[in-house]
Parts: sequence; structure tokens; C-alpha cells
Amino acid sequence: MSSLFPALTDGHRADRPALRFGERELTYGRLAAAAGAVAGDLKGVRRVAVWATPTLETAVAVTAALLAGPAVVPLNPKSGEKELGHILSDSTPDLVLTAPGTELPAPLAGLPRLDVDPAPEAAAPGGLPDDRDRDPEDPALIVYTSGTTGPPKGAVIPRRAIAATLDALAEAWQWTADDVLVHGLPLFHVHGLVLGTLGPLRRGGSVRHLGGFTTGGVARELNAGATMLFGVPTMYHRLAEALPAEPDLVTALAGARLLVSGSAALPVHDHERIGAATGRRVVERYGMTETLMNTSVRADGEARPGTVGVPLPGVELRLVEEDGSPVTSYDGETVGEIQVRGPNLFTGYLGRPDATAAAFTADGWFRTGDMAVRDPDGYVRIVGRKATDLIKSGGYKIGAGEIENALLEHPGVREAAVTGEPDADLGERIVAWVVPADPQSPPGLEELAGHVAGRLAPHKRPRVLHHLDVLPRNDMGKVMKRALSHG
Ligand code: ATP
Ligand code: MG
Repeated sequence: MSSLFPALTDGHRADRPALRFGERELTYGRLAAAAGAVAGDLKGVRRVAVWATPTLETAVAVTAALLAGPAVVPLNPKSGEKELGHILSDSTPDLVLTAPGTELPAPLAGLPRLDVDPAPEAAAPGGLPDDRDRDPEDPALIVYTSGTTGPPKGAVIPRRAIAATLDALAEAWQWTADDVLVHGLPLFHVHGLVLGTLGPLRRGGSVRHLGGFTTGGVARELNAGATMLFGVPTMYHRLAEALPAEPDLVTALAGARLLVSGSAALPVHDHERIGAATGRRVVERYGMTETLMNTSVRADGEARPGTVGVPLPGVELRLVEEDGSPVTSYDGETVGEIQVRGPNLFTGYLGRPDATAAAFTADGWFRTGDMAVRDPDGYVRIVGRKATDLIKSGGYKIGAGEIENALLEHPGVREAAVTGEPDADLGERIVAWVVPADPQSPPGLEELAGHVAGRLAPHKRPRVLHHLDVLPRNDMGKVMKRALSHG
């Protein structure tokens, strides 16, 4: 396999910008020096944790470890001590890499720490390690899933999967060394770390990280020459809300080469508002910690609201019905579980052979647990997760997503989530959880049920309505439906 980061290891872009976090910037040459210095301290180390704050130090630490050898366990600095304790005892890292001066919480106290210097005085004597001869199957990252449906599981991601997914995205998105990415995501999940940080470095392009996401930061960077934005739907929602009052933002988004959304479904309402205000369509892609990226709308393709595009180059994708038979007709209606196969897949859950075995079919397809239909031209439309988003009511299988999309189009609704709950008559009944646009006059059940029935079909109308101040969301902005249905 070639190097994971050719632009870094062969030195041909030494003077070009690689990473910028806030005011601090590293060229490829200086990143090579910083990563080389860290790599010198990682010889023979098997596994490291990285305290993954959105900083230059985190990016340097991960790059150094991937070149030097140890597998990286990125830690979410916002995790509670219980979750951190679980991840540490599960993954048993040999040391923790962090920025100098960081105060680490109790569960990390017993672990040797290595402070990362992003601007070492002298280059490391050994230079950068050569990663070209490493086994492509070597574990590179152990990333914990978002914990949306249960306790986070450690997915072991080999070097091969990182290279394959980033190269497939490069083709689908026409992603080159000239691209400058605006990034406002955390660095402890696949989206912000693999796509948002390792992606630009593999291409030889650059990243400008905003620290925290702000609509003003996005406008500033895109208007100053950045070409791409990666975000989660909650960010695009904030952009959609801000557009009418911020002409700079309209110019910024209108001029971007590529706006990409992922990690959860992008509400159709936000997609359409951004399209109408800027003339630009957000490109949606679909992936998981376990599979990295599976599908995307292509840069030269049609960004159809509510769809996640087509399988990426090298990825095999099929829909499978409950009885195990593959869906053969692309009719936009037949729902099946998405199963995938390809070089983008992880090797298994750390220390959980049973969970790993259960996640694959006998012939090697990974069961994503996500349900979808396909449009006649092959575009994938995600209906929702099998576990929480598929409501079986009155003999119908109803996806929560389309009801959420319909609710969001009601002017009285700011945020919406839909779940099912047991019902003696229907099997399950549809429950709507709504954050009203105006808390003083929240829309009532009859009003919203009529709105949904008029747009979709009468059997898709909510039977129960709860008003909330906010929806419970995790760090990636994903709605935690577990927390909703359990009170
Ligand atoms: P856990 O597995 O711990 O319950 P999680 O599934 O949220 O958490 P991730 O691996 O971060 O953890 O997220 C992958 C999931 O996110 C996918 O299985 C899918 O349900 C959802 N997802 C990602 N991108 C999209 C998208 N564009 N549209 C709809 N859903 C998406
Ligand atoms: Mg999952």
C-alpha cells in the first residue's frame, strides 16, 4: 500500500498550508516536523489514546501515530467519567497524547501522557516514519460509535479502509489538493477526524478548523477562499435559519464548490431553504463508524432532497427484506435493510467477537441496521433505523423520517422527532415530539395530525403529541430517541 499521506511523506508540498486551527497554522513541511517528533516517541507502542479536542495538537498526534504505527483511540473530551472509564478499560491504551497544559480527568490519571508540540524547535533526527510497507490490515483507528442506540462500541478500522474511503470520496466529490475545507466538527468521530482531517491531508489540500461552529465563521472562511464545507444537519439547520439575515453567508454558500452533510438525515425543509436562498444544493452522504462512507451524491450528480445518493466506487450495497431476500426492484417503495460490502469496512468490534459475528451475514455483508428504499435510478433514500425509526402501525411499516420532514414544514414547528409506542389496536401508534417555534402558542395535535395526513397519508398522522423545549441530542447533533421514549 502507498503512504496514507503522500503529500506529507514525499515532501513535495512542504510550503503549502496543511492545517489551521484558529490562529495557528502548519504547512506540510512543519506538520512533517511536528509529526516526526511525536513519532519518535511512539516506536514500539501498540495503542494510544488521543485527547481529541478540536486543536492542532490532536491533528498532529493522530497523523504521527498513523505514520508511526500504534492504533489511535480518539477520546471525546466531553465524555462523562463513566463513559471514559468504559472506553479506557475496553481499549487499554499504553499512553495518552494531549496538548501541553491540558488537565485530564480522573480516569486518565494512571496513564502515561505525552504532550504534543506542534512547533518543535528542531526536526526529529529520524524524520517521518515510512508507512509504505505497513500491512494494510493493521488497525489504524479504534473509534467508538456515537452511542445513539446503546453503549458505544469500539470499531477497529484498518489502514486499508481509511485509504479506500478517502479515495472513493475523492473520485465522487472531485476532491483535489486545491480544496480548502471549512471544518467545525469534533475530532473524535469518523466525520470530523477521518473525512474532515485525514481527508484533506491525504489529498494534499488543507483544513481550516473553526474551533466551534458559527455561521459567521463559515461565511468568513468561504468568502476568504475555502472551497468545501462538511457539516452535520444541525449545522445546516443553523445556516438555513441565518441565511435571510446574513447576505455574507448567502455569498459564501453560493460560491462554495461543495457543501456536504452527513451523520444524520438532513431535513428536506432545510435542504430546500438553503437551495432557494443560495442556488446551491447540499450534497448528502451516508456512512457509519463501522463502514466509513457507503453512499454519496456525486459532485456532478443531482442532489435530490431526502436522498443520500449512490454507492461510492468500490462499495457494494443491497437492500434486504425481513425474510432475508434481497430487494430487486428499485421502485422507491420497497423497504429493506441496507447491507454493504467493500474495502471501506471495519474488521470488527474490539473485544466483542459475538457482536462482530452478529453484524455480518454468512457471505460477508455488513448489516447496517438502517432501512431504505431505492429510487428507480438507484438513489438511496434512508427511511430510518430498524431499531427506532420503523413504526409498525395498522399493518403498515412507516418510517419516522418522512413524518419528521412533514412536521418540520409546519410553520409552528422548530424541531421534530417521531417514535412509536405500543397500541392495543394498531400494534404501535405514532408519537410526535415537537419543539414549537413559538412556545407561547404551540401547535396542537389536531392541527399537526391534519397537516401530516394532508401531506403524506391519513395512517401516517401522529396520534400522540408531546411539546419539548429541546430535543435530546448527542455531540453529533443526533436525536437520542432512547431518551425520548424512556421519558
Ligand atoms: P450507535 O451505533 O452507538 O448506536 P450511531 O449509529 O449513531 O451510534 P455512528 O456510527 O456515528 O453511530 O452513526 C452511523 C449512523 O448514522 C448510521 O447507521 C445512520 O443511522 C446514521 N446516518 C449517517 N449518515 C446519515 C445520513 N446521511 N442520513 C441518515 N442517517 C445517517
Ligand atoms: Mg450505529
